[in-house]
Amino acid sequence: MRDREPEGDGDKLEEVDEWQLYASAGYASSELESEEIESEEDISEEIWFDGDDLEFEGSTVNWDSPPCPAPLGIAHVIKIGVCDHCLARVSGLHSKGSGPDSGSLIREEAFLRDAELESKIIQDYCPLCENLFDDVENIVDRVFETLSNTEFSTMQFGIHLPKDLVQEEDRIRSKYGAPGSYHLKGAIVESIHERIRGLGKEVDFVKEKPDVMVLVDGLTLRVDVDVRPIFLYGRYRKISRGIPQTRWPCRACRGRAQGCESCDETGLQYIDSVQDLIGEPIRDALDAEDTSFHGMGREDIDVRCLGSGRPFVLEVKKPSKRTLPVEDLVELVKGHALGKVEVDSFTWCTRKKVNEVKQSRSEKTYTIRFRAEGPVDNETAEKSILSLDGQVIDQETPQRVSHRRAAKIRRRKITSIDKVSFEGDDEIEITLRCEAGTYVKELVHSDEGRTTPSVQSVLGTDCEVIWLDVLEIHSE
Ligand SMILES: [Zn+2]
Ligand SMILES: [Zn+2]
Repeated sequence: MRDREPEGDGDKLEEVDEWQLYASAGYASSELESEEIESEEDISEEIWFDGDDLEFEGSTVNWDSPPCPAPLGIAHVIKIGVCDHCLARVSGLHSKGSGPDSGSLIREEAFLRDAELESKIIQDYCPLCENLFDDVENIVDRVFETLSNTEFSTMQFGIHLPKDLVQEEDRIRSKYGAPGSYHLKGAIVESIHERIRGLGKEVDFVKEKPDVMVLVDGLTLRVDVDVRPIFLYGRYRKISRGIPQTRWPCRACRGRAQGCESCDETGLQYIDSVQDLIGEPIRDALDAEDTSFHGMGREDIDVRCLGSGRPFVLEVKKPSKRTLPVEDLVELVKGHALGKVEVDSFTWCTRKKVNEVKQSRSEKTYTIRFRAEGPVDNETAEKSILSLDGQVIDQETPQRVSHRRAAKIRRRKITSIDKVSFEGDDEIEITLRCEAGTYVKELVHSDEGRTTPSVQSVLGTDCEVIWLDVLEIHSE
């Protein structure tokens, strides 16, 4: 008897199955107790839906068109007009790859499953992308047309899509697309990348520090291109006086493009500047729009800057070329700035270097030549000047810069006085090293007593500065 037990169990299971079929076929009587009806419905759902969750990503599933990759789901998105690109990305059939070819393959298979499907398609306008994928070639052509004269090897690409399109696409994709389907924006960008690679262009797509940033408006197909600046680090020596560090607009016309009579139509107060002596030949060679000059501090127009020179970063804006050897650029500057400004070498750098240069504060060594108005005894004068060696001085904001600097007292150290020499009856020359930010001319003439102590105060006679050189900027 025990042998028969399993059979008996089997019979029981079959009975249950039969009963479920019976119930789900609609034979359950309406006169049954409501409790029983509920339990029958539960069972019937289990059979129909094979235990699947009724909820899908928060919305009720329509089982006539379930999400892809269910064949009915694929049939549904084909019916509503989805294009081959979007079919490939929302179908969930990753084995078939991506792009329009795999989309058309999926479509053919769906047509084989349902011969009438093709006739049921309601429109040839894709509700997921509004046929934007058809514009990919056009977009890429426009991008390269805009960049036809620009050299670049890296690109950051963005596309702006209308908000309502994105929302509608998201709604349809969440409901009918396979879980994890690629969103429209990512798919369009990827398709554009593919098209560009397909053209054999050597472009790396990057998320930061690109050579060019491209932004396409998905509605108007307007292409905006931002050619990113390039940066050159170097040190300049200014070997001629009377040259400002940066471009100085004409005082009369305020530097307007056409200039005026007083500036000879240049718009500039000084024709030469360190910025243009170095920057112009480079701007020209790289076919760039303009330059910005970022120096590690600056010297006055009449002050030379010697030694190993002053560190700076030249920012070259919107360059058409960006790969000339730096040695060639050095040669170009030598030809252009001869006898005025010298640069020994350049290195390419990033914007980060601008901040480094701007924030760096270094001690400097100066040579300053001045005239003592009253008679001085050289030996006593030298002793008096050397008494300032290692001293801390107080400097009120100098009168000549008070219009652009806050009024305050700066405490600065004279690190060392290295040399004092005399020439003729009244000229004295000092070589000294000072803390960053020391006003050296004021240290000599005292700025009407605003700098104390000063060379003038220790000599006991008025001092008039003749010239000043920056001999060395002590930065690594
Ligand atoms: Zn589409
Ligand atoms: Zn002018």
